[in-house]
Amino acid sequence: VKRNPNEPEFHQAVKEVLESLEPVAERNPQWVEAGIFDRIVEPERQVIFSVPWVDDNGKVQVNRGFRVQFNSAIGPYKGGLRFHSSVYIGIIKFLGFEQIFKNSLTGLPMGGGKGGSDFDPKGKSDGEIMRFCQSFMSELYRHIGENTDVPAGDIGVGGREIGYLYGMYRKIRNDFTGVLTGKGLTWGGSLVRTEATGYGLCYFMEEAMKSIKGKSFEGTTVAISGSGNVAIYAAEKVYQLGGKPVTVSDSNGYIYDPDGINVDTLKRIKEVERKRISEYVKYHPNARYTEGCAGVWSEKCDIALPCATQNELDEEAARTLVANGCFAVGEGANMPTTPEAIEVLLENGVVFGPAKAANAGGVATSGLEMCQNSMRYAWTFEEVDAKLKEIMVNIYTNASEAAKEYGYENNLMVGANIAGFLKVADAMYAQGIL
Ligand code: NDP
Repeated sequence: VKRNPNEPEFHQAVKEVLESLEPVAERNPQWVEAGIFDRIVEPERQVIFSVPWVDDNGKVQVNRGFRVQFNSAIGPYKGGLRFHSSVYIGIIKFLGFEQIFKNSLTGLPMGGGKGGSDFDPKGKSDGEIMRFCQSFMSELYRHIGENTDVPAGDIGVGGREIGYLYGMYRKIRNDFTGVLTGKGLTWGGSLVRTEATGYGLCYFMEEAMKSIKGKSFEGTTVAISGSGNVAIYAAEKVYQLGGKPVTVSDSNGYIYDPDGINVDTLKRIKEVERKRISEYVKYHPNARYTEGCAGVWSEKCDIALPCATQNELDEEAARTLVANGCFAVGEGANMPTTPEAIEVLLENGVVFGPAKAANAGGVATSGLEMCQNSMRYAWTFEEVDAKLKEIMVNIYTNASEAAKEYGYENNLMVGANIAGFLKVADAMYAQGIL
């Protein structure tokens, strides 16, 4: 804490992981001696840079850009870019740290990293977004590369932003290479990448609910928060698996639709018109809009999928979910459930899918995009989707087995932390102290 002051999100993420790893440290004194636990919490490299750009009124704006290259023991750094006004180094460090274990869990050779900016894309024109992305990449390009560090999207960074970033990279470097993932399908992108995090979340939860409780999405009511990339495709997959999503939200408020959220309307409002979620009630009069996003967890549901942002589901919300009969919570967002809320859920036997396992489908499919780029080849939708599903089931199995082996049966949070860590620690140990 002294070394990383005023970074509560980073402290929260590190505390959760290190506590889970205590039994691993006891069994592996050689890792303690080699300083693995001290080294893994220190980013290998952190870059902070200025991002000046000119807005539509001709005024100069300056934002701050970040890239934290956290750990590359098992592969090139890999992790998204987040553009949101709340971004500062502590958020990027927490996300980069989580990414180490998540990427390891996918079974693919990817290290952990994360980046972004405090730029707020809300209400900006296409031209402003483009100029910002170009300025951002005019510095970032010197730190990344297809074998060094491969960024992707996250909050506020979708297909449009990846396009502008990639265009600038290609121009500066004169090199067409898979240096970013989440690319468009005509220029090196992978089918299923857009859907991957939301779909993967549902594949993971389906497997976890089946194994732990003999349950599934079939016939369930599902509360989802957020209305971005992860939330939209989680809702789509919930329908395909026989459930009914009844809520979505943004940072202003939430929608409850007793008829089930209409995914086509959701996509039109968020992906095409880029408007607020309150617009939804214009098209679906049975639905209701409530100001304030936290209320979303007060709606009765069997399964909750937080897909917006960190610490959005607190202890009180967890108690309400349990009282309403919710039996499973799957984290689509990164660290959306507070530590106190996780405790409530686990105490009450709720199946809890932790982010680094449950939302790993996005980065896993990014890994598959990297494979296709290296081969200069593209798989079909069905091929990528089948690989994604297999990866999510494997992540569940590995987390579940690690939990059992260390005496925490069905605690997937501890299991995911341990399973993700073992491979990275082994690689760091083998490669010496550096
Ligand atoms: P998007 O930008 O597409 O959507 C983000 C959604 O979350 C929006 O509905 C947004 O509402 C809401 N949101 C963001 N910040 C806040 C906040 N402070 N309070 C309330 N709501 C908020 O992002 P994604 O869907 O890509 O990302 C959502 C989460 O999933 C993040 O935690 C991200 O790290 C995680 N994730 C994403 C992956 C991906 O592949 N995209 C992969 C793995 C994890 P508003 O418009 O009002 O800001």
